[in-house]
Amino acid sequence: MSFKPANNIQDLQYFGEFGGVNPSISDSSTYTFLSAKTMFDTFEGNADGCYLYSRHSSPSNLYLGEALAAMEGTETANVTSSGMGAITSVILQLCNAGDHVVSSRTIYGGTYAFLKNFTPKLNINTSFVDITNLEAVEAAITENTKMIYCESVSNPLLEIADIKGLAAIAKRHDLKLVVDNTFSPLSISPAKLGADVVIHSLTKFINGSSDTVGGVVCGTQDFINELRNVNDGASMLLGVTMDSLRASSVLKNLRTLHIRMQQHSKNGLYLAEKFEADGLKTVYPGLASHSSHTLFKDMMNTEYGFGGMLTIDVGSLDKANELMEMMQEKNLGYLAVSLGFYKTLFSAPGTSTSSEIPLEEQEQMGLTDGLIRFSIGLDADIKRTYNMMRSCMEELGILSTEEVTKVA
Ligand SMILES: *Cc1c(COP(=O)(O)O)cnc(C)c1O
Repeated sequence: MSFKPANNIQDLQYFGEFGGVNPSISDSSTYTFLSAKTMFDTFEGNADGCYLYSRHSSPSNLYLGEALAAMEGTETANVTSSGMGAITSVILQLCNAGDHVVSSRTIYGGTYAFLKNFTPKLNINTSFVDITNLEAVEAAITENTKMIYCESVSNPLLEIADIKGLAAIAKRHDLKLVVDNTFSPLSISPAKLGADVVIHSLTKFINGSSDTVGGVVCGTQDFINELRNVNDGASMLLGVTMDSLRASSVLKNLRTLHIRMQQHSKNGLYLAEKFEADGLKTVYPGLASHSSHTLFKDMMNTEYGFGGMLTIDVGSLDKANELMEMMQEKNLGYLAVSLGFYKTLFSAPGTSTSSEIPLEEQEQMGLTDGLIRFSIGLDADIKRTYNMMRSCMEELGILSTEEVTKVA
């Protein structure tokens, strides 16, 4: 195993215009040419290293794209203005009217809404399946299917996709396997396991400072060229362009991703083990009780751990809300959606990030009322955080004092 995703980022060298240790930011929307012929060739995509207009491409965006491609082990990548910008352009690039998608039913709310409510307008229809059931995935494929879509670690239920298994199915039926890897950067490398296209919302762990929205599509040079084609490329024509200033700041944050992921994972595992021992219904891929624990272990780049996302079920929405408000009051984290911040973030997915999913379907997929999704922060003293969270749960009667002393 010589694939070292973090080193692949660290080993890239891009110098600035004056020998700066960071690449210069391209602060221009348009570029001049010495000859009209070169301008024409650039527009046609035949003049490597020349820039025309920053919606097409810009040096800053290319640097970030190359760093993310290095991390995922794909030929290249295209950065976008948001994760949804990456997802929607990939789907619209791969599917024409009349085509069909087989998607995991536990995916990001926005992606679910896009496939469920928006693409049917274009006569692109989706079957939502239990992605952990490979037979169900294969059974849902029709002669019009173009794509299997899933998340490596699903939102918010933390189901794990068997990427190798899905890639084999995709290959057998000549489909593209598209994997959203937002919850597990560095830990899982979907392209190495057979995914054709890997997507991230950069908004989350990769940028890690909750100060911007961004996305990326990692894939083959051919596919990225298609997305960027001036005549029929979805990224190009939908205009999901990232701003250069943002691309340069995301690139700088990316360089510390490996250290942050290790700390998110370390803290996540600590809390998950404690919560589970306290008798709370806890879901975390690093727990032996997780139904896909072995699968995750099988796929993971071990040094980055099982990630920073975990869920607990405290029985009811009222209890969940009380607990989140109290934890926020004690400065243990913020009641906020999103993830990958230095501070712990928590929310009740049923009423927030997954509210696009009808209640009945939420129930079917095990998205219960009392579920709290945690994005565990970079806390330096996670033991203290745990003790304080535990006292909140005691105070609210979620954990009885007896149970707690027994474990402690
Ligand atoms: C946040 C998120 C997205 C959407 O990304 P944006 O940057 O908000 O557009 C897609 N997939 C997953 C798994 C996410 O968590």
